[in-house]
Amino acid sequence: MRVFVAGGGLAGLSAATVLAEAGHEVIVAEREEFWGGRAGAWTETLPDGTPFQMERGFHAFFRQYHCLRALMRRVDPDLRVLQPAEDYPVLGPEGAVQTFRDLPTSTPANIATLAWRTPTIGLFDLPRVRLKPTLAMMAYGDHTWAKWDGLSATDYLDALRFPAEARRMLFEVFSHSFFNPEDDFSAAELLMQFHFYFLANPEGLVFDTMREPFSTGLFEPLAGYLRERGASLRTGTSVERLNLGRDPIAITLSDGTVERADALVLGLSVPGLRGLAQASPPLGALLGDAMGSLQTTWPFAVHRLWLDRPVRADRAPFAGTVGLGILDNISVYEKLETESAAWTRAHGGSVVELHAYAVPPTMDEAAMKAEMLQGLHTAYPETRGAKVLHDVFLLREDCPAFRPGSYAARPGVATADPRVKLAGDYVKMPFPCALMERATASGFTAANQLLGEAREPLPHGPPRGPLARFRL
Ligand SMILES: Cc1cc2nc3c(=O)[nH]c(=O)nc-3n(C[C@H](O)[C@H](O)[C@H](O)COP(=O)(O)OP(=O)(O)OC[C@H]3O[C@@H](n4cnc5c(N)ncnc54)[C@H](O)[C@@H]3O)c2cc1C
Repeated sequence: MRVFVAGGGLAGLSAATVLAEAGHEVIVAEREEFWGGRAGAWTETLPDGTPFQMERGFHAFFRQYHCLRALMRRVDPDLRVLQPAEDYPVLGPEGAVQTFRDLPTSTPANIATLAWRTPTIGLFDLPRVRLKPTLAMMAYGDHTWAKWDGLSATDYLDALRFPAEARRMLFEVFSHSFFNPEDDFSAAELLMQFHFYFLANPEGLVFDTMREPFSTGLFEPLAGYLRERGASLRTGTSVERLNLGRDPIAITLSDGTVERADALVLGLSVPGLRGLAQASPPLGALLGDAMGSLQTTWPFAVHRLWLDRPVRADRAPFAGTVGLGILDNISVYEKLETESAAWTRAHGGSVVELHAYAVPPTMDEAAMKAEMLQGLHTAYPETRGAKVLHDVFLLREDCPAFRPGSYAARPGVATADPRVKLAGDYVKMPFPCALMERATASGFTAANQLLGEAREPLPHGPPRGPLARFRL
């Protein structure tokens, strides 16, 4: 087969990897000048002329991301590029700290330990907590979508009647991590995430981070691996139009060339896929009702700061934050990546990155920056007097929305045209997974479907929670 892969993020590159390994002719076109999409990295320059790798920001590589790890092992068999994150503290206002370190990995021991450890849950609060919706977390299964998808995460969390402070510390970071505003995020999607990340995750709520920028740590080696297997790779090349009425399919690219292929993997972001469907009505028709579910959620902001003085030595490499305005987390980059560590050694300061997920669309850049910086000053007071030597601010709007009630229309990997497959972190999968793992698993699935065999294994955790048979 000659297979065309549109989009060079994790989804597209995963599909390309399996297809190229199977000996097929693969062409990948990526609109940006770099590989990796939302997990990619590109070169920018500091005011003193030093080049550095900028990214959309910190990414957690969870241990139960089995497909992603299988992809990474292609170029790094021992996963040396990953390093364990010791803890994942959540910092609240007035010095509150919630830690997820060393939790048991099985349910209900993990829940009991977490509740016991949470100072904002007292014995008197427990009778108020509603048992049935709380147990629904442990009852994830196919029925969850029918029962809960019509409600929002806010409806669900309200129904638990957790003490307000405990709810903030335990759940707010979690629901924000999917970029969707809580009151416009499907309760069923949230329950699936609880199941996948925490309650049915034998690896525990721990993750690794990359020692290196994503470009040198993963995507450039992976591009080399694909080229060695004969794949033709093009960056800076956008897919403009498809002619699905022909066999082979005709694909018009931004450089004016037309490629022909027997099969197509669309590993595009949601806006990319929508744009292509608008330019190619037969693709819109093929996607049918699914088009309505293909929406982006609120924008996210990343602000990286090069400070003239270091943060306190005991600060965590990555910490979630709640109750600090739009700020959702703080990364101390010299504790994460070698490149920033070298800068800090040379200049004595800190490289700090602030994230805000699901930023209200009405907020302007100056207000976002001010609120995130204020959050940093509150959480890490030693930064109050620090001078910002350089900063990079990104505001993007390309993460998928998971609106209440959208599940039924969401597309899967297969389409009605057996030559055309979808892959991406918005795609419906038959087992629980999310974000980078869903992107990779859907890419592998797309390749398997085109090959007509389960060539690439799709390892995953338990598809159902321990209480699923009670259909709570
Ligand atoms: C700030 C931030 C933090 C995150 N943190 C985490 C985390 O900690 N853990 C985690 O698991 N996930 C995290 N994610 C999510 C993760 O990055 C995504 O789930 C994953 O990268 C999605 O991969 P994808 O291949 O589905 O989509 P993308 O990476 O969006 O890839 C789609 C590609 O298609 C390209 N494209 C679009 N249109 C066209 C066109 N017409 N022609 C050619 N190419 C086109 C785009 O340029 C892009 O490269 C984070 C995301 C962000 C933004």
